Amino acid sequence: MAQLRFKALELANNRPRIRVDVQGKISDFFRQDVFGLKEMQAILSPEAFKKIKQAIDEGSKVDAETADAVASAAKTWALGKGATHFTHWFQPLTGSTAEKHDTFFDAMTGMERFKGSALVQQEPDASSFPSGGIRSTFEARGYTAWDPSSPMFIYGVTLCIPTVFVSYNGEALDNKAPLLKAVEAVDKAATQVCQMFDRKVTRVKASLGCEQEYFVIDKALYASRPDLVMAGRTVFGHNPARGQQLDDHYFGSIPPRIYDFMKEFEIEALKLGIPVSTRHNEVAPSQFEVAPLFEDINVASDHNQLLMDIMSKVAERHSLKVLFHEKPFAGLNGTGKHNNWSLITDTGVNLFQPSTSARENLLFLIFFVNTIKAVYEHADLLRGSVASAGNDHRLGANEAPPAIMSVFIGSQLTAVLDELEKKGNIKVEKGDNMYMKLGIDKIPSIIQDNTDRNRTSPFAFTGNKFEFRAVGGSENSASSMTVLNLIVADQLTQFYDAVQKEMKKGAEKRMAIVSILRKYIKESKAIRFEGDGYSDGWKNEAEKRGLSNISDTPRALDAYLSKKSREIFVKHQVLTDRELEARNEIRWESYIMKIQIESRVMGDLALNHIVPTAIAYQNKLIENANGLKGLNINNKEVVKTIETISGYIETLKREVYNMTEERKRLNKLTDSREKAIGYCDDVKGKYFDKIRYAVDKLELMVDDEDWPLVKYREMLFLR
Ligand code: ADP
Ligand code: MG
Repeated sequence: MAQLRFKALELANNRPRIRVDVQGKISDFFRQDVFGLKEMQAILSPEAFKKIKQAIDEGSKVDAETADAVASAAKTWALGKGATHFTHWFQPLTGSTAEKHDTFFDAMTGMERFKGSALVQQEPDASSFPSGGIRSTFEARGYTAWDPSSPMFIYGVTLCIPTVFVSYNGEALDNKAPLLKAVEAVDKAATQVCQMFDRKVTRVKASLGCEQEYFVIDKALYASRPDLVMAGRTVFGHNPARGQQLDDHYFGSIPPRIYDFMKEFEIEALKLGIPVSTRHNEVAPSQFEVAPLFEDINVASDHNQLLMDIMSKVAERHSLKVLFHEKPFAGLNGTGKHNNWSLITDTGVNLFQPSTSARENLLFLIFFVNTIKAVYEHADLLRGSVASAGNDHRLGANEAPPAIMSVFIGSQLTAVLDELEKKGNIKVEKGDNMYMKLGIDKIPSIIQDNTDRNRTSPFAFTGNKFEFRAVGGSENSASSMTVLNLIVADQLTQFYDAVQKEMKKGAEKRMAIVSILRKYIKESKAIRFEGDGYSDGWKNEAEKRGLSNISDTPRALDAYLSKKSREIFVKHQVLTDRELEARNEIRWESYIMKIQIESRVMGDLALNHIVPTAIAYQNKLIENANGLKGLNINNKEVVKTIETISGYIETLKREVYNMTEERKRLNKLTDSREKAIGYCDDVKGKYFDKIRYAVDKLELMVDDEDWPLVKYREMLFLR
């Protein structure tokens, strides 16, 4: 085994650099592999183009004739670019993307064909995708349906068609379908509110800019670690002497091999219309970040999934491996996805952008306060939306961000809300400037120098958008963005109804709005927190405020099935009761599987790799101790070491045995929630740390020459 480690290290250290240079200007190739509006317009008849544009802009249905026209145009375009196949590209609940390629070539006619019906609907052989019991075997297939609002693209030699994946009864089996519904709900609710101020607003679109963190290590080193290969994270490994204490990686230059990899995946991404714009090192060694410009949320979410896929494939060419797992290395920063979110009207107004007009600032305050209120009301659901086995290592594990949901808005906006709360009951007489009296005419000037940023907050206002930082690095953003848009939609609906009610009672519109906002500000105050989210002080304070602190996935998922959550999912037609239950089943099952795999990998590595290595080393020491004794030299220290090693070996054998027995007991349970909690508390909770502690101690004692696993310092300081 140690042989494998040194072979891998030799390979990793002698890799030639694969140079990548950008050819020409980015504008020359940006979106070149996307079948967008421009490409459609060039090929389609004006009538067909008008219809498809309407479908994209307004979500109207595409008729069969238009579908045929679009399919034919897409085929012409794709063949011109060398494509041979097409696929419906979808996002099943496994968390990754799926595709099944069909050829354009029709052997019967000897020609390339692509009909509207094949564009609109496909039946993937999908019985192996998780459905949480929704799809019984007789209806096992389910189908994918075209989502015209996310453009088709060519990947390799395949035309990819973004689709939703649903069962024959129309139940969602993927991540995209509920997101589209939640986006529709927030559009409806927000538009209604905007129209109180501006009748010209007919649509409000949610936007997402998704900053993606990741680790990169050499492929050979990755392959030599069974835990990384099987579980996506290292279950053992002692901290390197130099971790991220120096913070030097963050500002350092990007290592050449990684830089080449970045350039190449960015070029591929840009060709596919993913507007990647920033790249930099992250806090931990070998950790990096890529961020695209924000886009329409549905497209941005698709693009994030696609980007992860591109990155993995391009890494392969550079003999690298990208890790998106939330916590691949203990003791170092985890990996998240910062979801920057805002709402923008079709008249071009970002509703989270404070403006120079006092009147528009009232609109800003409406959206700002309602979002805070929504997070306050549904904090547990938002927490549940980012729950996963991987993310449990970040949320609530002494690291960014905490599992307690809170909102950071900065000191200036805090002052604005405080003032509004205090002054809100002033009397506004005829001729008064209400905005001035309430102190909300001044927001724009203050915001501009609102630079205080709180990196410890899970949900922070950052000037003209909210940034949800609790999303896991490997997760599909659609899950959390479905919840965020849904809770804001519901909150805005309630707000609108409340204003209408006040106005019916004779209240002036603006006064009605202000009085309701004041009420919300008061009610949701507990969720606002400006301090250090990692401190123990905050844990205590949050508890006093009545905020939840749910640190594990099995329990965090309960929030989806609460009465309050079910009501809003059903009311806004995002997910039905049955769909909610099915999804929780899938997520509990997935959690169980992940912990089970980690537990098995731990057991295998401990018993088959670590214990034999430790015994071999111990034998060397015994020989040494006997030799010393024969020479009448004091061998006490050596004997002590032998005893310590014996202790750890015993611990490993015993704890792995007990952990396995525990798994056997739990595997008999049939209720997946109960089983997931068992795996969380009784397998992970009771054994993982104990086993890891013994192995990591042994790593420090055993001769480096003999140690079988590539060490942290060897994996993480790639140049
Ligand atoms: P940071 O300092 O957190 O990196 P940036 O200004 O670089 O902040 O933005 C991070 C992400 O937020 C980018 O993807 C950017 O496009 C996105 N973003 C900017 N404005 C908005 C907005 N109005 N809505 C959604 N995302 C936005
Ligand atoms: Mg950010």
